[in-house]
Amino acid sequence: MAHETTRYHGTCHCKKVSFTVDLDLSAGTTKCNCTWCWKTRRWGTLVRPDAFGGAQGTEHLSLGERGGFCTACSVQTFAVLDTSGWEWSEGDEMVAINLASLDDLPVADLIAAPVTYLDGLHDNWWGPPAETRHL
Ligand SMILES: [Zn+2]
Ligand SMILES: [Zn+2]
Repeated sequence: MAHETTRYHGTCHCKKVSFTVDLDLSAGTTKCNCTWCWKTRRWGTLVRPDAFGGAQGTEHLSLGERGGFCTACSVQTFAVLDTSGWEWSEGDEMVAINLASLDDLPVADLIAAPVTYLDGLHDNWWGPPAETRHL
């Protein structure tokens, strides 16, 4: 499948952490109702590691090179996930991107992107929750 990607630049709020990611937003985004995603108001997407790069300031991240949240400003940027047990994954690792950390992503493009809703709250990660309007 051919993907047209756009390079976006992400930062945390205090700008100590930065990175780039090549995204095809038409490939989809996710919102989930699990307690982590709900408490962090997460709107994300997953990319292969080769679409991710230029990470700077990772010494400020809670998980270092593997991402997490900035220990200075608390904002989540990215996280490298071990996806070796995930059936649909394209590899052993994927990078979860917090879309809100992308500085040059036009709002119009974000709201045009398809959203897949996950019912993580009920361990039903591959099905939609009964209610999605609050996510
Ligand atoms: Zn920060
Ligand atoms: Zn979740």
